[in-house]
Amino acid sequence: MPADLEELYQSIILDHNRRPQNFRVIENATAHAEGLNPMCGDQLQVWVQMDGDTVADVSFQGSGCAISKASASLMTQAVKGKTRAEAEGMFDRFLALVTGKGDGAELGTGLRAFSGVSKFPLRVKCASLAWHAMKSAVAGKTAPVTTEGPA
Ligand code: ZN
Repeated sequence: MPADLEELYQSIILDHNRRPQNFRVIENATAHAEGLNPMCGDQLQVWVQMDGDTVADVSFQGSGCAISKASASLMTQAVKGKTRAEAEGMFDRFLALVTGKGDGAELGTGLRAFSGVSKFPLRVKCASLAWHAMKSAVAGKTAPVTTEGPA
């Protein structure tokens, strides 16, 4: 990866860690899911307000490392206004990106900032945590999501 691109990606992640977007509770959320990544200590909650088949609003709160928070922040921006199917498609493409199986071309510059994560297997869990919680909430599941435990 060119050095200037790597710098851009790092600044995107640091920026979203410092000033996370949609970092709030949705009081009348239609679904809510918790994401736990005990390997790193990341704990995130994701709220989703569905309007029919559309993600009308999505938010998160919690504590975790810079990667997990920045990823959650960018996830909320990415899936807001999308349909359930589109949000699930983005989940698949983001997971492919952070595991080195896809280039994330359709995801936009912000989310492609996590492409370097594929070199660090432990960080893949940090980057994908909020996405797992979002997918669970959008699907209407309420059980906590954890990166560990029964597969
Ligand atoms: Zn983490």
